[in-house]
Amino acid sequence: MAKVIAVDGPSGAGKSSVSRLVGKKLGFLHVDSGALYRIMTWQCLENGIDTSDPKAVAAFADKVEIECVPEDGRIKYLVKGEEPGDRIRTPDINAHASPVATVKNVRDRVTDLLRSLVKFGDLVVEGRDITTAVFADSPARFYLTASADVRAARRQKEEVEKGIADQSAEAVKASLLARDKIDSSRKYAPLRKADGVIEIDSSELNLEQVVDAVLVALPADWR
Ligand code: C5P
Repeated sequence: MAKVIAVDGPSGAGKSSVSRLVGKKLGFLHVDSGALYRIMTWQCLENGIDTSDPKAVAAFADKVEIECVPEDGRIKYLVKGEEPGDRIRTPDINAHASPVATVKNVRDRVTDLLRSLVKFGDLVVEGRDITTAVFADSPARFYLTASADVRAARRQKEEVEKGIADQSAEAVKASLLARDKIDSSRKYAPLRKADGVIEIDSSELNLEQVVDAVLVALPADWR
């Protein structure tokens, strides 16, 4: 049976960098579940679906075709044969992703896709409901967090470095807190720290330190 490391936490807590590196060290495929919600959001916007209308979003959710392909230590997603790249990382997608992710049909669709990925092997899956819903039975579940200021500063740096946007730290913080609020108060699979998960606050830690904290907490025969 495939092993799954589950990592949840709010936006900008460092889930992607940590999961990618843990995956690389262990030979587990990195799975970015947020990218699937971003793809659903992007496709809604491209097709003129009103993201504030849950019924319209629900009806559209099954129409989005996403191909999942293991490559270079991760699962890459293709939409009509193409990787969306930074088109799903814009402030516009940030603003619409959380409302889209509240819709049950969207969550069911993404959850099914994520669970199907075990056919490719061992996984490190990061998101908001991986420890509580998608892979709630995993013996390796983590909740990664950091202060809002640290998270906003990291996200802003990333946006500027990648040339995605040039927003102030304050604007990034406001957008991130707005998403956290929707993500943790929604009806289906809200972001929360589940019982029994290992919490790591990365505010004062560098990437290697967080990765080490994850690795030492894994079942001994997974390391
Ligand atoms: O992780 P990322 O910031 O890319 O996720 C984008 C959005 O997708 C989140 O704000 C959240 O609304 C949604 N999401 C989710 N459940 C997940 C992963 C992401 O609801 N497992």
